[in-house]
Amino acid sequence: MRRINPSRFQVATRGTSRDINSRIVLNLVRAHQPISRADLARSMGVSRAAVTLIVNDLLAQKRIFEGATGETERGRKPTFLYIDSRRRAVIAADIRASETFLILADLLGKPLTGVISFPTVRDPKQQVAKLAARIKRLLAEHPEIDGYEGIGVVVPGMVEHSTMRVLHAPTLGWRNVDLREPLAAATRLNVQIENSGRACALAQMWALRGDHATMAGDLVYISVSDGIGVGVIMNGEVLRGRHNIAGEFGHVPLSLDGPKCSCGSQGCWEAYISNRATLARYFGRPVNLAGPEDAANRPFTVEDLITRARASDGKAVAAIEATARYLGLGLASVINVLDPSRVYIGGEITLAWDLIEGTVRTALGERALTAAAAETEIRPVAATEHPRLVGAAALVAAPAFAAPVVA
Ligand SMILES: [Zn+2]
Repeated sequence: MRRINPSRFQVATRGTSRDINSRIVLNLVRAHQPISRADLARSMGVSRAAVTLIVNDLLAQKRIFEGATGETERGRKPTFLYIDSRRRAVIAADIRASETFLILADLLGKPLTGVISFPTVRDPKQQVAKLAARIKRLLAEHPEIDGYEGIGVVVPGMVEHSTMRVLHAPTLGWRNVDLREPLAAATRLNVQIENSGRACALAQMWALRGDHATMAGDLVYISVSDGIGVGVIMNGEVLRGRHNIAGEFGHVPLSLDGPKCSCGSQGCWEAYISNRATLARYFGRPVNLAGPEDAANRPFTVEDLITRARASDGKAVAAIEATARYLGLGLASVINVLDPSRVYIGGEITLAWDLIEGTVRTALGERALTAAAAETEIRPVAATEHPRLVGAAALVAAPAFAAPVVA
């Protein structure tokens, strides 16, 4: 028999509403599929009959389906339940300063299509028009999908949670930009917008909730790209702060007279470790803060730089090593302030993780306040997993599965 650890799942009681029970069942199916009705009843501590009622509802709504028959030691064979993500999808968009990426994903956040990209347009109105047109084309290309739950968009900037306005996206020069309303109007779909680092952190927490519940409480996600996005989860909650800027470690200075940053300040962590900073170091030029124009004539990327480093180009090795050192020094601040269980690092730089991990660890060790803190788990997330697009998909898909706190 399958063992299920329901510790972080809320347990249904007689007073629990039907909607909450549905969400609890959905979340258990998502985390443990394939799963039988009997196992659901056991992990929720309710009767088989109660589970059957909820399951019948969800089957009728086509949110789950019955799959292959399972094996048990004795008696009748149960049929297993799965999330029905076969004909429903979400649209995930990752707006970066240089390029915008797009995929269709299933309700578990798994990509259903290859990644499409186009150069980001600096004018928000034109960017929304282009994004909406590209989304419509993508939907027309996939008539096999019955319906869409909505569009999740991650942006390289601070987002006001209540309105989803982009308050400030330094690498794009955007302030107080509303993408949600015009994109929803153009596509007639539900649109959710979030900071890229926060969305990635949420997606990791969502993925962890199934089996490693104790890890999900405190984590930090650092997304290294054209800029730096940081998402912080403490006690299972996303840290947002009074003005939606909590966790913006990318703009904490490493040095007061360091290189110029996209935010207008100097010496921010971002100005040392972003892809732009790493490339600038390699070419011995100032960081190019020009923005979206980069994409059109991007002659050379961090991936190319890593390829050169692997081919023993001394300058490439030095540029990446320096980024690794600054990454470790900044990580020490993150860990000394937040003391999370685990830190995730996303972005192209993780392609070189085998080359840089030692340097990152050494720098972290120099500044971490205790030996235990210096040993904090750091986990690179491969760029091939498209963590930002998975994060964008989770913005739309995850709320349906979220098990709210039940008294
Ligand atoms: Zn800055």
